[in-house]
Amino acid sequence: MATGGGSGFGLSDLSRISHGRGSYVFDESGKAYLDGSGGPAVFCLGHAHPEVNAAIGRQLESIAYAYRYLFSSTALEQLSALLLRLCGPGFRDVIYTGDGSEAVESALKVALQYFAARGQMTKRRFIARERSWHGNTLGALSVSGFASRRRAFEGSLLEVTFVSAANAYRPPLGCPPDGLSAHLARELEQAILAAGPQNVAAFIYEPVVGAAGGVVPAPPGYAAAVQAVCRRHGVLVIADEVMCGAGRTGTWRALQHEEVVPDIMSVAKGLAGGYIPLGATLVGDGVAQAILDTDGAYMTGHTFTGHTAACAAGLAVQKIIERDRLLERVQTTGARFQQALRHSLSGFAEVGDVRGRGFFVGVELVRDPGTREPFPQSRALSYDIGQRAFADGLICYPCSGNVDGAAGDTIILAPPYNASDAELEEIMVRLTRAVGAALAGGS
Ligand code: PMP
Repeated sequence: MATGGGSGFGLSDLSRISHGRGSYVFDESGKAYLDGSGGPAVFCLGHAHPEVNAAIGRQLESIAYAYRYLFSSTALEQLSALLLRLCGPGFRDVIYTGDGSEAVESALKVALQYFAARGQMTKRRFIARERSWHGNTLGALSVSGFASRRRAFEGSLLEVTFVSAANAYRPPLGCPPDGLSAHLARELEQAILAAGPQNVAAFIYEPVVGAAGGVVPAPPGYAAAVQAVCRRHGVLVIADEVMCGAGRTGTWRALQHEEVVPDIMSVAKGLAGGYIPLGATLVGDGVAQAILDTDGAYMTGHTFTGHTAACAAGLAVQKIIERDRLLERVQTTGARFQQALRHSLSGFAEVGDVRGRGFFVGVELVRDPGTREPFPQSRALSYDIGQRAFADGLICYPCSGNVDGAAGDTIILAPPYNASDAELEEIMVRLTRAVGAALAGGS
């Protein structure tokens, strides 16, 4: 199974894509699929948006790509200025990457370079969370708490300290629901003290967990509480917003909802909305200052860093989202969508939880709603639902392993921000149908 995606379909028997229009994609047989998740939460403006395509076309006509370390470009500079404005105060620089894993990788390296620049060479360790996903490169995989995706690489991964997931539906044993944030902050502090603050570089987490949890927003107060702990011990905070950022939850940064500014942040999927691969690492003021004062440059980057046409795509996507006030739509319509989905699925006892924020919604299925025991992994329920939905012309994002890294079934919905009300309704209807059919299908 490819771990970049969650579909789990065999790669040899896939339908062949023909084209996309708005919230729909079409295969070569002419079958239409309503894009309820943009694959893994990528397509924030749907497909074949004429203005985005025109902007990319204009860029290609002048030049596709100028090597970042020889030239700057208008597309890159305008996109950086826009991103820094959208992210709000506290960030200084944007380092472009090709995807989310590279953005995380750069975030980890920037944290290490920061401490090297300050002469604190013992600060090398990362702390991360269980039930998290940060990417497929070795560094990003090392900080990912996802057993089944790590297994083949164990022994060659970085030594990382893991703390509990921040999941109100599955809290650590004995933790009262209203004390979750404080409990987890204490646990993080103990982990820092156990490793020795002089050895810890950064704590990395997803403000809203994506594939590894099935859309799990941290409980209120969590972001501020862990940030305070990290500050106290000179540990940097890296927010991985590859999946939940770029407006997916209704604010441009997911952590803006909590009014928290991390030291470093990764973003990717919705940044250029899938039109051309693009990720970015945003570097906070203090981190940037220390590195640039000492080294003059970030020691990370790749041949295609700041690819010009990719930046033009990102710029076009972000300008349209802002001009059309789509984040306001994501906020208000997202809340209604989640409510309606909860209602639509309420007839199934096995739907244990419907959660999320904005246009980032997760549905968790459990065998026993009382104990929250998952279905056996062998049942592959989420994939069954995903396949039935696909056959019925709906793309959703089935994920597994949210309970213990292997068992657990969730479905992610992440529609384009400009999906119409009728399309959202149709997504809900078809997902409900797929859930019903899969549950009736038995094991
Ligand atoms: N971080 C998060 C939170 C992700 O969801 C993902 C991808 N699912 C990644 C990093 C890795 O991104 P990519 O697949 O683009 O390398």
